[in-house]
Amino acid sequence: ENQKNQNFIKKIILKDIKNKRVKTVRTRFPPEPNGYLHIGHAKSIFLNFFLAKQFNGTFNLRFDDTNPKKENAHYIKNIIKDVKWLQCNLENNIFYTSSYFEIIYKYAKELIKKGLAYVDQLTKEEIRIYRGTLTSPGINSPYRKQTVKENLLLFKKMKHGHFSEGDACLRAKIDMKSPFIVLRDPVLYRILFSEHHQTKNKWCIYPTYDFAHCISDSLEKITHSICTLEFQDNRKLYEWILKNISISHRAHQYEFSKLKLEYCVLSKRKLKHLVTNKIVSGWDDPRIPTISGLKKRGYTSSSIRTFCEKIGVTKQNHIIELSLLESCIRNDLNLNTSRYMAIINPIKVYISNLEDNYSEILTVPNHPNISSMGTHTTIFSNTIYIDRYDFCENRTQFKKKLKIGNEIRLRHAYTIIAKKIIKDNNDNITEIICTYDKNTLGKNPINKKVSGVIHWIAKKNAIPAKFNLYEKLFILKDPESKEDFLKYINKNSLIIKHGFIESSILNNISEKTYQFEREGYFCVEKNCDSKQKLTFNRIVKLKKNFKN
Ligand code: ATP
Ligand code: MG
Ligand code: MG
Repeated sequence: ENQKNQNFIKKIILKDIKNKRVKTVRTRFPPEPNGYLHIGHAKSIFLNFFLAKQFNGTFNLRFDDTNPKKENAHYIKNIIKDVKWLQCNLENNIFYTSSYFEIIYKYAKELIKKGLAYVDQLTKEEIRIYRGTLTSPGINSPYRKQTVKENLLLFKKMKHGHFSEGDACLRAKIDMKSPFIVLRDPVLYRILFSEHHQTKNKWCIYPTYDFAHCISDSLEKITHSICTLEFQDNRKLYEWILKNISISHRAHQYEFSKLKLEYCVLSKRKLKHLVTNKIVSGWDDPRIPTISGLKKRGYTSSSIRTFCEKIGVTKQNHIIELSLLESCIRNDLNLNTSRYMAIINPIKVYISNLEDNYSEILTVPNHPNISSMGTHTTIFSNTIYIDRYDFCENRTQFKKKLKIGNEIRLRHAYTIIAKKIIKDNNDNITEIICTYDKNTLGKNPINKKVSGVIHWIAKKNAIPAKFNLYEKLFILKDPESKEDFLKYINKNSLIIKHGFIESSILNNISEKTYQFEREGYFCVEKNCDSKQKLTFNRIVKLKKNFKN
């Protein structure tokens, strides 16, 4: 394998194996079950999964479930479903931090006994003030001087519910003057009176992320604990804790940069806000980059994997272009989706030199250059639908469009010339009268070149269908960087259209994903029952859509 294709973490692992620091590579993905997974999590999942796989190691999914107030079993179920959908085999490697609560509690007592932790009874606000800032050192809490015996008793009282939430917490005794704020006596345990989805009412004290994470990693014998850059300083605390407790295996932490994607928010707090305030229809809304949303939109898991491979793993923070994600799904679908015609903005065209009962069956390839994908049929007759944006009233514009006196081709069929338009009382065009040239099936008319090609469906071959057209959810490239990100919502991010599809799609409806010529790739909405109108979600536009 090419050196350039190796991410920096893989290089670290290769070195660790060479130096015999590591025998079996063990990685994990540790989501907190307080929301759905998104494409940033996919980056982390693939990174951890494939590092383990390449080195014949193991990959764990571990629920970092230390805050029962924000978590639930529904999120757990969906996270497992999404990881599996990404084709990352979990076998039985699903773990919960909560199943280590007893051991973590013992390690907390060990720190107290060593004089390295104390029960603090300052208020949350006082703790914040005493902590100081980047430019001013912190101040010791008066509770820092308590004896080991006092601390053990108070910690026991915390565990047995003698304190209210916020009235006491366990803190590590490190250094209130440390240049690293995370080392200024970080909180290790806090009181939360909340039923936990796994441990029910067994506990009313819960370890913090920092305390639980390094211990959980070590208990699972994780060799490379990979997280995102904002935890860089926390590594100092990670190492401090493992150094000061008697644990046999010590995991190591490495950091890489988070995925940031244009026109999206990926922070769970912001995504949750969109869901709970009904700005989107749910965690699986096709307009948000959750795994469930992308799946509903019609993205394949292999296209998400390709995307994650392309962006690579670095320590640089930059925003990835949405067009890169779109090109990954387009390249994937281009190779295996059948082409059909769909009319999204229908307008009627009457071909005056054809009889009313005329009906010709045309055979059309399913893919322009993969003949093994077969063919389907379409019907040509005297009344057809075209897209109203393919007709142009103004004679001077758009050479390739249908307009009075201009000859264009109906895709896979004949050429037509517009002769006349019919309007209603409001000046809207209701019908276009054309003639066709019967000698132009598969060839140009004599002495002429016809440059425009438009899609169409014969009225007798048209099945009504609904189309969900998605646009960007935000009008700003980097809404994540704005606290007032809601101000930048695109009010037209979902456009619903009613039009037609070719009837032959019904014979092929199990394919689920199609290219509608000149419009884009679409997938059938899953919950679309047969009595209702068929609904198609637009996955992505074509590289060159006809309307742009
Ligand atoms: P929040 O937005 O609330 O901080 P989170 O997305 O960090 O939540 P976790 O459940 O803590 O949620 O994340 C699980 C793992 O996924 C962590 O290791 C985290 O570093 C990683 N992760 C989260 N967001 C991204 C991202 N945008 N790119 C890459 N990895 C990410
Ligand atoms: Mg989190
Ligand atoms: Mg996080």
